[in-house]
Amino acid sequence: MLERTFVMVKPDGVQRGLVGEIISRFEKVGLKMVGMKLLHASEKQANDHYVLTDEWVEKVGNNTRDSLTKKGIECKETNEEIAKGIHDGLKSYLRENPVVAIVFEGFHAIDIGRKIVGPTESRTAPVGTIRGDYSLDSYDLSTDLKRAVRNVIHASGDKADAEKEIALWFGGEDIYDYEKHDWTVMVKHKK
Ligand code: GDP
Ligand code: MG
Repeated sequence: MLERTFVMVKPDGVQRGLVGEIISRFEKVGLKMVGMKLLHASEKQANDHYVLTDEWVEKVGNNTRDSLTKKGIECKETNEEIAKGIHDGLKSYLRENPVVAIVFEGFHAIDIGRKIVGPTESRTAPVGTIRGDYSLDSYDLSTDLKRAVRNVIHASGDKADAEKEIALWFGGEDIYDYEKHDWTVMVKHKK
């Protein structure tokens, strides 16, 4: 249950001055920051961060096709071609300006992180989530503009992703173990 998750304030989040607000939400929910740095993503980091799984290819393909169909435009690209285009767009998005890379540790850190961040599409992300409160992008807009959805933040989807992403962005360095005393209040031990 005690786990680490990788969170990244994407370039639009940094440019829009949302770093403090985002960190504050993770702190307030009870997660412990064990690593944090501002950096310009390397080509390798931007390239390897997102993996084109079959599931993702189908998801972005369907989202894009639905957006085009609504506008009466026939989609001539395959899901693979659409996903490759979005993946290329993600690489340039992540490298357009600095990002803030953070590791948060805590009980259920991965699920809690995803809950705070909200679903991928800002337009439909619920109020109260970071994406819902601080961004407005949509599949329709991003398809129109031929780019990835700009949704201010990334958070690991599962344990395997979290481990891979922490290794990619921190490479085993700059992560600190320390005691944080509010944990004693939040997680009382059995007597
Ligand atoms: P996340 O885990 O919620 O960030 O979403 P994914 O892992 O599925 O996708 C990674 C990133 O790709 C998202 O945060 C968006 O920036 C972008 N993205 C995801 N799905 C789509 C899509 O259908 N269309 C476009 N244009 N971008 C997408
Ligand atoms: Mg994801």
